[in-house]
Amino acid sequence: MAYETIEMLIDGAWRGKDGGDGGGEDIINPATGEVLGVCPHASAAELDMALAAAEKGFEIWRNTSPLARQKVMEGAARILEDRIDAVAETLTREQGKPFGESKLEVGFVIDMFRWYGEEGKRVYGRIVPSRVPGARQMVVREPVGPVAAFVAWNFPGTNVIRKISGALGAGCSIIIKPSEETPGTAVAIARALQDAGLPDGVLNMVFGVPDTVSRHLLASPVCKKLSFTGSVPVGKHLQKLAADTLKRCTMELGGHAPVVVFDDADVEKAVKTMGGFKFRNAGQVCISPTRFFVQEKVYPHFVEGLTEVAKSLKVGNGMDKGVEMGPLIAERRIEVMETFLNDAREHGARITTGAERIGNVGSFFAPTVLSDVPDDAMIMNEEPFGPLAPVAPFKGIDDVLERANALSFGLASYVWTSNGATARAMSDGLNSGMVGVNNPAVSTPETPFGGVNESGYGSEGGIEGLEAYQRVKFVTEVGV
Ligand code: NAD
Repeated sequence: MAYETIEMLIDGAWRGKDGGDGGGEDIINPATGEVLGVCPHASAAELDMALAAAEKGFEIWRNTSPLARQKVMEGAARILEDRIDAVAETLTREQGKPFGESKLEVGFVIDMFRWYGEEGKRVYGRIVPSRVPGARQMVVREPVGPVAAFVAWNFPGTNVIRKISGALGAGCSIIIKPSEETPGTAVAIARALQDAGLPDGVLNMVFGVPDTVSRHLLASPVCKKLSFTGSVPVGKHLQKLAADTLKRCTMELGGHAPVVVFDDADVEKAVKTMGGFKFRNAGQVCISPTRFFVQEKVYPHFVEGLTEVAKSLKVGNGMDKGVEMGPLIAERRIEVMETFLNDAREHGARITTGAERIGNVGSFFAPTVLSDVPDDAMIMNEEPFGPLAPVAPFKGIDDVLERANALSFGLASYVWTSNGATARAMSDGLNSGMVGVNNPAVSTPETPFGGVNESGYGSEGGIEGLEAYQRVKFVTEVGV
């Protein structure tokens, strides 16, 4: 029954083992209600220490060669490989997802360390031919400076490593505030980096009352960049706070992904793949399929198939063998699911399975399928962030494209078809940062992950995720 000891990392020192100078809060296992430990809160003085450390850490890290940086990141990857079972257990116990999913997530953390460590060696500038004989014009990429980052609880490893690996690969220092609900995985990542020899002050990890921490850190001119993963309203709020010191921002915000299934698709495969993907992490995924649009001819068959997938899932404690879906993160999310379902019923939707909490220990909710859901139901407009799958029929491509694009979100979209022209027309027409055609694999270390419109802007993953932590300098030399 291992769970990480939660402390904050400031200037290379671990602080706040039994609660920070700013107090603390209990960390709850959402499957059992058990208290796992105490998450310390930073005081204002500790946040100032973190800012000073990040400033100092930036000077050290930007002057460390990319090769030396990569060695530290590779070292952290190897340490996490050795510790993968313990870290995955911490992840499952604090967040709830099945142990196998947690292990895959820690594997993604390891991959990200490796990919960004290597890619940091390939930060190329360019020489631009000059208009003046004998002059040399150079475009140079530099690390942007210390970074302030805040992330959500749904992927305690992935959300954290997307910030840390890009920042460290580019030569930036970082102060990160992971979620207070899931601090253990983040602390395990920080310990691996420290054990691999990361210099003091390069990575600082704090916890606290989110609004207090972000106001404090963002008011300071020390951090030159804000990177946030979370909801649209909080993203807008933080961007306003960052405006006073004109920090650059990356915003990874909410989504409401349409899945469009045409009648020429491999419907069995679509049901199986998107059904499994829908209920992964109990639907608490920003790119989770959340609006299923299915062409009329195959609609009844699809609804039936998706219902069977939902019914077949084993729900329970993620540490138990064979469990395929864990609890929601906390009790408060059960009420949100009920609000969505009551509204959908009032709008005439039909529940084909689920729609109830499971048991009275832990925050479990049954995998749920709703059919004939009208476009004006709340669930077709607001992100459900839970195990609810609303399905609606469509006639043709023009009608469905308009409906898929009707919201202000624009994170991920999915299309199922065997027709190349349809696939292209859809991927060209969809307003979203990522499109999966006949597959949902839109998140890898080497490809850009990010949204458009109110789902945010900027990418994490790929070379774009490194550029997010760089600034450009133009140097023109004459006479040397
Ligand atoms: P939220 O915005 O309320 O909270 C997200 C995180 O931000 C939490 O850790 C919270 O502690 C922190 N936070 C909240 N208020 C803050 C503040 N004022 N200052 C600093 N930090 C603050 O969102 P939530 O509902 O808890 O999380 C789920 C949301 O995150 C969903 O909308 C989901 O789509 C989004 N998300 C997006 C991505 C992405 O990459 N686009 C990934 C994961 C989650």
